[in-house]
Amino acid sequence: MLEEKLKRTELSEMGEFRLIDHLTEDIKIVNKETIKGVGDDAAVIDNGNYVTLVSTDILTEGIHFDLTYTPLKHLGYKAAVVNFSDIAAMNGTPKQITVSIAVSNRFSVEALDEFYDGLKIACKKYNVDLVGGDTTSSLKGLFISITVVGIAKKDDVVYRNTAKANDLICVTGDLGGAFMGLKLLEREKEVFKADPGIQPDLEGYDYIVGRQLKPEARMDIIKIFKDLKVKPTSMIDISDGLASEIMHICKDSDVGCNVYLDKIPIDPTTNNMAVDFNMAATVAALNGGEDYELLFTISQDNYEKIKTVKEITVIGYITEARDNCYLVANDNSLIPIKAQGWNSFPE
Ligand code: ADP
Ligand code: MG
Repeated sequence: MLEEKLKRTELSEMGEFRLIDHLTEDIKIVNKETIKGVGDDAAVIDNGNYVTLVSTDILTEGIHFDLTYTPLKHLGYKAAVVNFSDIAAMNGTPKQITVSIAVSNRFSVEALDEFYDGLKIACKKYNVDLVGGDTTSSLKGLFISITVVGIAKKDDVVYRNTAKANDLICVTGDLGGAFMGLKLLEREKEVFKADPGIQPDLEGYDYIVGRQLKPEARMDIIKIFKDLKVKPTSMIDISDGLASEIMHICKDSDVGCNVYLDKIPIDPTTNNMAVDFNMAATVAALNGGEDYELLFTISQDNYEKIKTVKEITVIGYITEARDNCYLVANDNSLIPIKAQGWNSFPE
């Protein structure tokens, strides 16, 4: 039909998640080794008693990073670590990465050396081998694509779609810091642009700036799960903000949730910065993203085991009410959770 041919749907109408669904909905898995394809933090490939985990991420200059305040060494470190985080989210261990870059002639060899220094530091720290990649030119800007390969025992793998009603919802570390760090860096960039004589004022905010520029993957938590013999019932890493991630777990698991607003862990520095920006720190935690903490659910039987772990906070529980995701406010009123996390295609 002519009309159909002429139809043009804007990317912004669809949004990132619906676009991925749209592009991949009719993909059929043909190899029996492919245990999990599209739809989790990593693909899962049968490897005997073990599985191979594969995940990939792309970073675009001007979209994901701004080189006016991101040192290239930090960028290399972060680019690797965010991939390790997706393997952690499957309860696995990252082992290898490949690194592909498209780079314009604006960059020098020394600049790329810096970027690789960061990658190498991350690989060393996390015991990961850099085993390949691809290098090409771009007309403008830097593009980075990293693929990570990880491993897990077959029975240890944790998916997004297996949360059960009454499970406890837990997060690691604290949330919202990376977003408030970004707000601060953006603010100081504007100040600097207006008057290059003024040096950035980041004093007292090392923590949130570090959260933005140098995140870590929570491999320590994966070790704790092993030591305590706890296997979460579902897990995802928080790259896009708590709201969007809990909705992924609930939607994929066919369940709902109640998350207590006052239980969401927030660092005092994050709070102070939020006050400065006249916003609620919980909004940064819910919608900010890039904290790379783990969001997971456990069966209530495991509560005794995790309750003394400082780095784990119980923030709510899973309900049977499919797709009904709520925040429980201090007065016990229920606020529907809406995912306002990262959208690659804003209008
Ligand atoms: P994460 O936030 O954990 O990196 P994403 O939201 O990027 O995950 O991706 C969700 C799922 O969709 C993953 O399984 C990913 O491999 C898959 N995916 C994303 N983009 C594409 C694409 N263009 N084609 C096929 N699969 C994709
Ligand atoms: Mg992820």
